[in-house]
Amino acid sequence: MSASISRPLQADGRAAGHVRSFAEFRRARMIRSLRRLAVAFVAVAALAVGVLFGLGRIAHIGPFAPGVPQAAYDARSWNLIVVNRWHRIPDDYPAPQLTKLANGQQVDSRIYPELQRMFDAMRADGISPEVTAGYRTHDEQQQIMDSTVFQYVNHQGMSEKEAAAAAETKVAVPGTSEHELGLAIDVNAVGASEADANQRVYDWLAANAWRYGFILRYPDGKNDVTGVLFEPWHYRYVGAEAARTIHDEGVTLEEYQR
Ligand SMILES: [Zn+2]
Repeated sequence: MSASISRPLQADGRAAGHVRSFAEFRRARMIRSLRRLAVAFVAVAALAVGVLFGLGRIAHIGPFAPGVPQAAYDARSWNLIVVNRWHRIPDDYPAPQLTKLANGQQVDSRIYPELQRMFDAMRADGISPEVTAGYRTHDEQQQIMDSTVFQYVNHQGMSEKEAAAAAETKVAVPGTSEHELGLAIDVNAVGASEADANQRVYDWLAANAWRYGFILRYPDGKNDVTGVLFEPWHYRYVGAEAARTIHDEGVTLEEYQR
């Protein structure tokens, strides 16, 4: 009696409901397989990224100064970007349009007109300035770093590790140099070997560069803020408004942006 209201039996004696659960079992097994495949795929992808990133570091390609967070960048205030040892050039920073100077150095074309005006004014005051360093590619910055490390190892007997640490106090880690932005210039006297000629350039710039939108980027006594010791030759374009405030208040770009 009771058998007549239970589920019909199959040939092997199991309830017919088991046919459905077998399909479910197969589906579940397929999902498990797919899940395992996905995990394996993610693991392989992560490994590949890790290896490429590591190789990139060794070969100096790919993300620069990977341990350093990216600087905030807004195209509308491109002139105010703060790049320093704590903030590297962001990955989405567009490659600058460059203008070549007479001596072969290059700068971001957006700063060229003001640079030209500034140099004209300096020359009118009887000074012969020269941009001794403008835009540098990441590779060029890396070469400067490498040759500095090389010198410390070979001429001062430092270990490679000591040399790297010493070099980083003197040379910006690639990816953290303003020269890679194209917005910074090192200015010295033309062909100057005497300190006096350079000093005249530095004095003029300290007094007047702000009028053209340039600031002394690494002032004396501010290296805890800028991360760089006093560099009287290194000027950075920030635009007229910021340059005036930074000059008048005697602050750094970091402090101005806070
Ligand atoms: Zn410089």
